[in-house]
Amino acid sequence: MDSEVPFYALSITEAWKTWKWAERFPGHEEIRRYFQHCDKVLDLSKDAFFNTIVTEARYDVDSLKWTIKTNTGGTAYATYLIMATGSSYKTHIPGFEGLSNYKGILLHSSAWPKEQMNVIGKRVGVIGNGATGVQIVQTLAQEGCELTTFIRTPNVALPMRQRQLTDDEQNVSKGFYESLYASTRNTIAGFPFNSVKKASIWDATPEERLELFNELWDRGGFNFTVGNFRDYLRDKKANAIFYDFWAQKVRARITDPWKRDVVAPLEQTQYFGTKRPSLERDYYEALDQPNVTVVSLKKTPLVRFEENGIRTTEKLHEFDIVVLATGFNAVTGSLTEMDLYDTEGRTVRDKWRDGVYTYLGLTIPKMPNLFMVYSPQAPTAFANGTPVIEIQIDWIADVITKMREENIRAITPRFEAADEWRSNIQSMNQNTLHIYSDSWYMGSNIPGKKREQLLYLGGLGTYNRVTKEALDGWKGFELTRT
Ligand code: NAP
Repeated sequence: MDSEVPFYALSITEAWKTWKWAERFPGHEEIRRYFQHCDKVLDLSKDAFFNTIVTEARYDVDSLKWTIKTNTGGTAYATYLIMATGSSYKTHIPGFEGLSNYKGILLHSSAWPKEQMNVIGKRVGVIGNGATGVQIVQTLAQEGCELTTFIRTPNVALPMRQRQLTDDEQNVSKGFYESLYASTRNTIAGFPFNSVKKASIWDATPEERLELFNELWDRGGFNFTVGNFRDYLRDKKANAIFYDFWAQKVRARITDPWKRDVVAPLEQTQYFGTKRPSLERDYYEALDQPNVTVVSLKKTPLVRFEENGIRTTEKLHEFDIVVLATGFNAVTGSLTEMDLYDTEGRTVRDKWRDGVYTYLGLTIPKMPNLFMVYSPQAPTAFANGTPVIEIQIDWIADVITKMREENIRAITPRFEAADEWRSNIQSMNQNTLHIYSDSWYMGSNIPGKKREQLLYLGGLGTYNRVTKEALDGWKGFELTRT
């Protein structure tokens, strides 16, 4: 995974006290073991229905209850409904011409087999090189296959600097965990990294800038973006300096001149950081290997799938296996693709067709007592996920406690409050370089989806403060007391 431990883990004492990580960036097996550990120490499973999909939820204004239906024919009733449906849940499979004609193995990254997939001696094609594609390519490249990676926009990936963690160092650092976790809540991105002394790149000399860049680069992880000068997402010239530094570092790791120019072109073709930067281990060395072919879809676009593989404008690439690492209907898809009805019988899908309206990224107008976590118009993917979720869950718990204390049966955000929340996000976004980029942050990875900033840009610390302040006097909410 891309976020490092212990910050990308629950701050709950029972969860960390008896747990030790093996790696700075744990892999999927270790994460699964961690979830089992959390389940055990927090005793969670007893309250869960597994392998059950919620198909529909409606609010009844007479009983003041949500009715929730599942694909197993079950019905549940709830006073409060929390949508913890995730950001990258609804798979995106582009409408490639001829896809159904392809006779080899075809899988989307989200359906990766549980058992190790044997690719030795196989011809494998991977479309997409977001965070998922990068991880798949650098891994499969070492597994004895003939690998072809189809790249439309090169990933501006940062060095992960993976390393093993010892028991001793974790025992010692557990003495600081509580203060580390507490401090993440007041940072911009939910990581307790040192903040940069000079916020603007133009306040530093070129020598100071280079020194900081190298220091952050060597630390690995998201240090380079989160711990750096702040103006690279607003100022094109600052952004170009970031890009040039990145391109020089990456180009030095690729010997093949053609591959080098495709994956790290000298000429900047995208704004650094406006698509989610990935962390890589040895991605660029992997691309450089002779068993890896790089296809630039900008130079030779994909024409169609055929029985034996993928035809580009250059030729037919034949494959035994094709992996679609083409992403998700991210941030909103898990809510819009469910039949989630408001009090007037409109689905969220319908309500958000021309733009997302939430209040605080936590509630939706005309949907009483419905709450969301890791949600649209919250810091979500712009911050470390765990503190985002913990701040939101604490807020929801505070709301429910306060409602009980004040004999309030239901709260519903006013449309005007949601409209203002939305406008603030979109006007902040106008001052960033995100507006130039086709990314899932902007909803523009999905054909037909409204192009807008889907995430809160004010930083996690501000979000924590603003959401708490809204509870004082129930700002922006209508209350039902009887
Ligand atoms: P993604 O970032 O949306 O990347 C999708 C890739 O598919 C992009 O390279 C995109 O190219 C390409 N693509 C999409 N449609 C295409 C088409 N029609 N033709 C050719 N290429 C196409 O999806 P993802 O890599 O699955 O990552 C999604 C998010 O999941 C990440 O950003 C991250 O938040 C999360 N994630 C986290 C981790 C972790 O370790 N924590 C790991 C993986 C993923 P363009 O850029 O040109 O559109």
